[in-house]
Amino acid sequence: MDFAVSEKMKTILGMIDEFVDKELIPLEPEFLTKPARSLLPVFEEKRKIVKQMELWAPNHPKEYGGMELNLMEHALVSESLGRSPLGHFIFGCQAPDAGNIEILHQFGNDEQKEKYLRPLVDGKIRSCFSMTEVELPGSNPVMMDTTAVKDGDDYVINGQKWYTSSADGSEFAIVMAVTDPEAGPYLQASMIIVPTDAPGFNLVRNIPVMGHAGEDYFSHAEILYQNCRVPQGNLLGPEGHGFVIAQERLGPGRIHHCMRWIGICNRAFDLMVARAQDRIIAPNRKLATKQIIQSWIGECAADIQAARLMVLHAAWRIETVGKKEARKEISLIKFVVANVMQKVIDRALQVHGGLGMTDDTILAFYYRHERAARIYDGADEVHKISVAKRILKEYEGKKIR
Ligand SMILES: Cc1cc2nc3c(=O)[nH]c(=O)nc-3n(C[C@H](O)[C@H](O)[C@H](O)COP(=O)(O)OP(=O)(O)OC[C@H]3O[C@@H](n4cnc5c(N)ncnc54)[C@H](O)[C@@H]3O)c2cc1C
Repeated sequence: MDFAVSEKMKTILGMIDEFVDKELIPLEPEFLTKPARSLLPVFEEKRKIVKQMELWAPNHPKEYGGMELNLMEHALVSESLGRSPLGHFIFGCQAPDAGNIEILHQFGNDEQKEKYLRPLVDGKIRSCFSMTEVELPGSNPVMMDTTAVKDGDDYVINGQKWYTSSADGSEFAIVMAVTDPEAGPYLQASMIIVPTDAPGFNLVRNIPVMGHAGEDYFSHAEILYQNCRVPQGNLLGPEGHGFVIAQERLGPGRIHHCMRWIGICNRAFDLMVARAQDRIIAPNRKLATKQIIQSWIGECAADIQAARLMVLHAAWRIETVGKKEARKEISLIKFVVANVMQKVIDRALQVHGGLGMTDDTILAFYYRHERAARIYDGADEVHKISVAKRILKEYEGKKIR
């Protein structure tokens, strides 16, 4: 396996690192203390600069205005951008839009691409993905109550969803709803594009997550679909293929998420080491002289390195043998990296003492928001079980001595 980074990518990553350091990290104190909506004009200015630098939408198709980097290349970009919570948003490759862009590109018809995909890649509009329901387990999404029933030329959608991330301010949602309750469990649901101004689309609230409801892009909504009516032409891909399409959305998306988390680890690690070097805890004694802190630094460095290599390996497997064959590696990185990130953020916060609990560094924000990484896109336990089942199958009938 070749770990060399091409000259082209070195240049791109150098430009991104510089931009994150000079333009985004200095914005964070405002981001942490002001309502997100009040900062949208500032974010827009930064996005303009990114476009001028020709670094906009690094992973999205060229024909729609992106850079069309491949999976390995975008993995490295995602790591660099992860160093600030603003990175992916300012560069036009943020979730959930990134996943929606992928599936609109792959499954959308020409009209849907012009109406939704083009302005989405361009950053003119935002979108959300509405699958998880309040009353049913997101870990087993075939249990779904939301229905889309045909009526004349329309679908009429009814259901209660939550954790529809970034719905506040979105132009449309891609909604998972049961279109054929009689079909097999994985063929019952479809994906339907629902404009947020459609009659019956009700954003009930932005859910407070660890005490912060947030707003606009930085929020997670509860949504009530009450006789919500959209034309049948808004079906994305074939009817009954909701889960097939959802699977497409998850493979490369996990690589991007995990590399973003590695970026967060790098940032937290930098802060931890710098604080240990600076903090005087006794006359002429820095915190960094304490062996327990040195042990944390060594452990975190090893954990980050191991996690990073696992993600790059999984990306390489996806590129060489395909998503299906790489399922074990994809599940492995999902829970390993989420846990490494949680540990590194926690250690960094601990090294900062009381300061770590404030919003004077980015650590408390990461601590609040990134705990969710062990829950969304498949909880730890679900991935562990899935990996174990594959391994157990591989061992079936084998004689091991
Ligand atoms: C910050 C955040 C953002 C999100 N964004 C979105 C979004 O944009 N769109 C969307 O549709 N959803 C989103 N979600 C929802 C997310 O996908 C679900 O929370 C997730 O799938 C888990 O479902 P659940 O919350 O219903 O937990 P449940 O399914 O009720 O599971 C609860 C717990 O039970 C355990 N568990 C579950 N299944 C098993 C099993 N088979 N074996 C052993 N243990 C098990 C796990 O520990 C799990 O954490 C988001 C969630 C969060 C926290």
